[in-house]
Amino acid sequence: MKVSDLFVYQDTTLKQALEIIDQQGLGGCLLLNSDFSFSRTITDGDIRRFLIKGGNLENKLWELGKIDAIWVHEGTPLVDISGLLQKHDIQSIPVLDKNGRPIDMVIRKHLENPILLSYPHLGEFETHFVQQAFDTNWIAPLGPNVENFEKEIAEYVNIKGGLAVSSGTAALHLALDIIGVRAQDIVFCSSFTFVASVNPILYQGAKPVFIDSEPNTWNMSPSALQQAMDTYDQMNQLPKAVIVVNLYGQSADMLKIKAICDAYNVPIIEDAAESLGASYWGKKSGTFGKIGFYSFNGNKIITTSGGGMIVSDDEEIINKARFLSTQAKDRADYYLHTRLGYNYRMSNILAGVGRGQLKVLDERVTARRNIFNLYQKELKDIEAIQWMPEPEGYYSTRWLSCCLINPQVYQGKLEDLYHRITLKGIEVRRLWKPMHTQPLYAGSNFFMHDGVTDFSNFSFDHGLCLPSSSNMTLEQQHRVIDTLKKLLG
Ligand SMILES: *Cc1c(COP(=O)(O)O)cnc(C)c1O
Repeated sequence: MKVSDLFVYQDTTLKQALEIIDQQGLGGCLLLNSDFSFSRTITDGDIRRFLIKGGNLENKLWELGKIDAIWVHEGTPLVDISGLLQKHDIQSIPVLDKNGRPIDMVIRKHLENPILLSYPHLGEFETHFVQQAFDTNWIAPLGPNVENFEKEIAEYVNIKGGLAVSSGTAALHLALDIIGVRAQDIVFCSSFTFVASVNPILYQGAKPVFIDSEPNTWNMSPSALQQAMDTYDQMNQLPKAVIVVNLYGQSADMLKIKAICDAYNVPIIEDAAESLGASYWGKKSGTFGKIGFYSFNGNKIITTSGGGMIVSDDEEIINKARFLSTQAKDRADYYLHTRLGYNYRMSNILAGVGRGQLKVLDERVTARRNIFNLYQKELKDIEAIQWMPEPEGYYSTRWLSCCLINPQVYQGKLEDLYHRITLKGIEVRRLWKPMHTQPLYAGSNFFMHDGVTDFSNFSFDHGLCLPSSSNMTLEQQHRVIDTLKKLLG
């Protein structure tokens, strides 16, 4: 439905208005003045009451008289609109531009059943493993689900060992600690990412240096990395580690990045929080660095409601992670500690959820990829949309379906587009705001992709993530598609 399909005029007859109301199925239509500004809403109830009082179907709409119409200005926050719909107990509300002309309708049932960005999707096996934990009275400490979950993940990604922890953030913190990142050390990190990829650098008192992304993969730019290595090498301040993020489910260009890091003998920590199930030239994402980690946060591709996993081919590293994540208890008959540790382990209940989720991981990846493919296919004629690429040799989880809205084609403001989509009860998000532009990291060094364009910040300015939950219905996917067609077509 286009908002203009609801337009009626002062000299429209009641009969014509009823026909429009009937066709559009919203229970009402929008009466405009001669300058196309909004006058009032006409509901079928308004017409019924007029007829009962003696009117007839050939009467004109102006004869219904004026009322205090309910409407909102363009840009009114969603919560305020929801509040109005509830307060007046109405099913829809027109949105007016600054000339008072209707540009959109907010439909209550869309807001009350929103299409969410990325939502947990449980399978049929989780309760079995969780029940096992209860049946054996083994909800703590640790337990068989934890050990099995670690083994199963390690097998799935084909790596020697895994250690289940309370979050992806905790996993990264452990990784930095194990690699020996200490106060004042330098750590390179992708700038285009979620803040959790960086904060553990600060936990260690170290200093992040941010590396831009490249347009091909949206991940760490090898040329920017090379430049940063040269620069810091000359200052005799090579980083202690490079944190490479695999954004939105897609691996970075690990061959090139690894070659650069190896040349300077700097270890890689792979942030594969969003890319469990993805691969790069056949090798699973998260297994390229000295240490990799995954997240099982609620919005990730599979979830334990909250959790993470550190993985490595170096068993020594996994043992150290186990030691540090359980308060760094030395071997003794009593509690003896020589160094600082953490309480970062995953519980046996949550690991049970994870084991069930892991069984359907590949299905979840396929479902997300299918959603992306449908968006891409159905919106191929919308010139403004540029999808996140997937180069040859890459297999992305398409954790989120992401695109750039080409500013040379789409003249409007991204904020307005974002707002218009959310008014349809569709949860979209802006792309990650790069870390080098965050107030928290103001003053940090940043290396651009090619010395002239800040690709990550450009992407933030022009990009969106679309709903991508693996349990989205086809109807929901088409609602997203239709909305984008209408707003960008
Ligand atoms: C989610 C996420 C993390 C953090 O994982 P948590 O389990 O939420 O702590 C880290 N890096 C990236 C890129 C993420 O998306």
